[in-house]
Amino acid sequence: MQNYEHCRASDLAATLSLLAEPKTEGYAGGTDLLGELKRGIRKVQRLVNLQGLKELGRISAEDEGGLRIGALCTLEEIGQHPEIRNQYPVLAQAIFLTATPQLRNMGTLGGNLCQHPRCWYFRNRQFPCWLKGGKTCFAANGENPYHAILGRGVCQAVHPSDLAPALISLGARVRIAGIPGTREIPLEELYQKPEPDRRRMTILRPGELLSEVFLPRPSNGARGIYLKAMERKAWAFALVSVAARIKINDERQQEVRIALGGVAPIPWRVKGAEDILQGQRLTGDIIDRAAKEALSGARPLRDNAYKVPLAKGLIKKALATLQPR
Ligand SMILES: Cc1cc2nc3c(=O)[nH]c(=O)nc-3n(C[C@H](O)[C@H](O)[C@H](O)COP(=O)(O)OP(=O)(O)OC[C@H]3O[C@@H](n4cnc5c(N)ncnc54)[C@H](O)[C@@H]3O)c2cc1C
Repeated sequence: MQNYEHCRASDLAATLSLLAEPKTEGYAGGTDLLGELKRGIRKVQRLVNLQGLKELGRISAEDEGGLRIGALCTLEEIGQHPEIRNQYPVLAQAIFLTATPQLRNMGTLGGNLCQHPRCWYFRNRQFPCWLKGGKTCFAANGENPYHAILGRGVCQAVHPSDLAPALISLGARVRIAGIPGTREIPLEELYQKPEPDRRRMTILRPGELLSEVFLPRPSNGARGIYLKAMERKAWAFALVSVAARIKINDERQQEVRIALGGVAPIPWRVKGAEDILQGQRLTGDIIDRAAKEALSGARPLRDNAYKVPLAKGLIKKALATLQPR
């Protein structure tokens, strides 16, 4: 493992100044970043420990309703929070399907949302893959059973976070802190497919941090579910996941939001499917049409065509579970 300088600051302004230096990265739980450094797939000169930023480690209620969750809250703290379990069960479900208790005790919200893809070519230093600055996406013509079927471009990796689709289904917003100031955007806008001039999955600029996530007050009668297909029942990333949130009013669906994980380089919201469901009764026919529409743009690779029926099936199961009884 290469040597690096390690430092910490106790307030946000000082931390942002440190992060503005070249070849400097912040880390929180370190469950993703430290592994990358040990494997030599990432190089830094200086690591900034974010754990001193106590103000980013709280969950607080907003006056107008809703919750603010600091980016340094651990997944376990969030998943165990009584209000999150009661009001935002889709998030608690996603958290308890994430990794292992040990990782949930160390891993933080900010780190989970900004973690790097698990693509085996990206994670192996022998492969100078495109996302790491190389010329080739080795997954495009290589071994690709876990890779993208939607939103494919220069990179075939999938976004690994379970929390991101769940939070997107809840309409979460994220606050980004940087030296010029802070901005708050819908979480789904944090993610953009990598491009030749931006070889990463978020729009975060160097030196910027996620400081908080804001969950709007849930509307009365809204219900959600998070389902995740895995190769084994625990400690596995999603082959496909679905987060669905609907509100049924007068037997018809409103406020439909569906986001998929494990299928695209970024968490994938399926607006076409949402439009089909909006204002309709949740019948078997409508559910089938929505699931078909959600996957209509799928372009599987050699080894991952199985993800198309898997995703359709998971969407149908999620919506059927949300049907009023
Ligand atoms: C064996 C294993 C299994 C796993 N399984 C799953 C799973 O099933 N589902 C899932 O969702 N995840 C899974 N993970 C990922 C795990 O959830 C993340 O590693 C963890 O949440 C990252 O949090 P952290 O605080 O440790 O991040 P760190 O390792 O500290 O940081 C990760 C990245 O995020 C950046 N970062 C950290 N905090 C911030 C911030 N506030 N603002 C901006 N950037 C920031 C860092 O610079 C770094 O690039 C797994 C990880 C492992 C090792």
